[in-house]
Amino acid sequence: MSATTPGMVCAHHHLYSALVRGMPPPPATPTSFSEILELIWWRVDRSLDLEMLRWSAMLGALEALEQGTTAIVDHHESPEAIEGSLSVIAEACAEVGVRVVCAYGVTDRHGADGAQRGLEENRRFLSEGGRGLVGVHAAFTCSDDTLEAAAGLATDLGVGVHVHVCEGAPDAAAPQRLAPLTRDDWLLAHGVHLPEDAGLAGTIAHNPRSNMNNGVGYARPVRFDNPVALGSDGIGAAMLDEFRIAYLCHRHDDVTATPEPAWSWLEAGRALVPETADDEVTWSYDPMDPWHIAFTPGIRPVRVVRDGEVVLADGRPTRVDPDEVRAKAAEQARRLHARL
Ligand SMILES: [Zn+2]
Repeated sequence: MSATTPGMVCAHHHLYSALVRGMPPPPATPTSFSEILELIWWRVDRSLDLEMLRWSAMLGALEALEQGTTAIVDHHESPEAIEGSLSVIAEACAEVGVRVVCAYGVTDRHGADGAQRGLEENRRFLSEGGRGLVGVHAAFTCSDDTLEAAAGLATDLGVGVHVHVCEGAPDAAAPQRLAPLTRDDWLLAHGVHLPEDAGLAGTIAHNPRSNMNNGVGYARPVRFDNPVALGSDGIGAAMLDEFRIAYLCHRHDDVTATPEPAWSWLEAGRALVPETADDEVTWSYDPMDPWHIAFTPGIRPVRVVRDGEVVLADGRPTRVDPDEVRAKAAEQARRLHARL
């Protein structure tokens, strides 16, 4: 039994985080979202170099393809290795055979010079023909000048902005600061604490598993008029899993919920990367219906065709040796963990 669907899209990912699993414990146990950022993610991103990033992106792209995800919308930060980082990610994904929409997350956390270098990496990559959005980490780590510069750069280049919005309490002021800037082509990640009448334009990327992992609360995406898509926020790109979790979070909040809204969020991701509608994923299960998928574990892609090329056959990637990618990624993970 098998059924075929278009390619899955991960609407918010951090490919740089693929090597983090198994890292040494942080110096203290984080007790809040702010501390999770400070004690884990902002130590990790400062430790990355381009070689680690390459194998992190290779592993993340491989794991996406193995789950039938043919496009990743990535949000990247590596403050000690900014220049060229988006090209490293794009090349790794191309090698595996997965589409990627890149963005460098601009922030003032490392001073005005760091923000400027981040903006410049977005400008360089996009103006050289790279596919992407202008990235902004989040309003709460950016000055108004930086937010305006990023929005202006995006307008000049004809793309949207990919930004974390109201993921946790520290970003509560974001809606007022972003409202004059957002447009329909913006991608707003999380929106957990975003009021539904905030007047922000753009697609909201809902990341239910990550939100639970960070203890930031439930975004309750049915309340938004904006389009809603599903992301992983860096925890792989297994979009059937994200769908199942999105459904369960919805159901946990409202026992009358059906799987259809969560399935519509999964499908809405394709608007961000329209070519995925022509990708063909043949699954180990039939029918690929939301009610079935919500309650059937272990559904896997057996074949993926992208632009007429078979990039996954019998469940194995055709362009890269998965064992070699995993071995090289493990080597780079050891380097990263040693720095931490
Ligand atoms: Zn994120």
